[in-house]
Amino acid sequence: MSELIRLEKLTRYFDMGRGKRVHAVDGVSFSIAEGETLGLVGESGSGKSTLGKTLLGLYDKTAGSVIYKGEELPAHYRPKDFLRMANVMQMIFQDPYASLNPRMTVGEIIAEGLRLKPDIQAGDVRARVTAALERVGLHAAHASRYPHEFSGGQRQRIGIARALIMEPEFVVCDEPISALDASVQAQVVNLLNDLKTSMGLTMLFIAHDLSMVRYISDRMAVMYLGSVMEIGKAADVYFQPRHPYTQILIASNPEPDPGREKQRLSTPIQGEIPSPVNVPPGCRFAGRCPKVMPVCREKTPELLPLVNEDRLVACHLYTDAVS
Ligand code: SF4
Repeated sequence: MSELIRLEKLTRYFDMGRGKRVHAVDGVSFSIAEGETLGLVGESGSGKSTLGKTLLGLYDKTAGSVIYKGEELPAHYRPKDFLRMANVMQMIFQDPYASLNPRMTVGEIIAEGLRLKPDIQAGDVRARVTAALERVGLHAAHASRYPHEFSGGQRQRIGIARALIMEPEFVVCDEPISALDASVQAQVVNLLNDLKTSMGLTMLFIAHDLSMVRYISDRMAVMYLGSVMEIGKAADVYFQPRHPYTQILIASNPEPDPGREKQRLSTPIQGEIPSPVNVPPGCRFAGRCPKVMPVCREKTPELLPLVNEDRLVACHLYTDAVS
């Protein structure tokens, strides 16, 4: 598979005034191949959503690069850049309640992006709205109704139709299931999986639920306090985590299967993620890591490949085991 998008030391800080800065995303590098789904996990405050928005140009980057099909994307998007990139990259938002304008009909919401195209005809808009609704399991008649007439799962389907009507190549799904009831989460994930195959989409799938991320993703990246701690094949990272943070994150994640959940040795993650304003020196996880060593508080571990493994880990435990 050839590379579609690559991040090189992508960084996004937010200035708070008085010299304080939130280090939301701090030097993140990875690539996603065409047709691949990369799952991105981590606690709230780890910078996952900011990474997704910076990658799409919704936030200006502070430093680093986003390279799409070999072309470096601008640090600051002008209106014509948004128009050009809306045809290839889209986002599906977390909250299907908040992300749909209650005063617009479903048809108007879904067609919003198309109206950016100056030469599109009204008849084409109607036909594409109908096709987008049917693609996500809704009906043409739903176009004249309003968002409040739909359930949470249906609203998320409307959000997906709005993103996919642009026929994008790459989609960032930002916690697309976390606001939904457990009973409809699997339906939305299965829909995204089917669409990925039928449309040949490449996805960055951001979520809390590690078992769902493992299910939908080819590879998985684990983020902590603005940095990637581990990245590898989803099954390897989920079933044989190497980084102490990944190990604790997975041990603290409830199993969807009640039988396996009973057998799980639950290990709640200790302490809270530190403030991204005061990023500690050395390893960012040192204050909560059960395996911390003196070197961890002094030297920042690099994200490096492990010998004989198809994964990268940022941890001094493996410093001698990198290839
Ligand atoms: Fe723990 Fe040290 Fe590894 Fe950080 S570098 S995860 S503190 S062992």
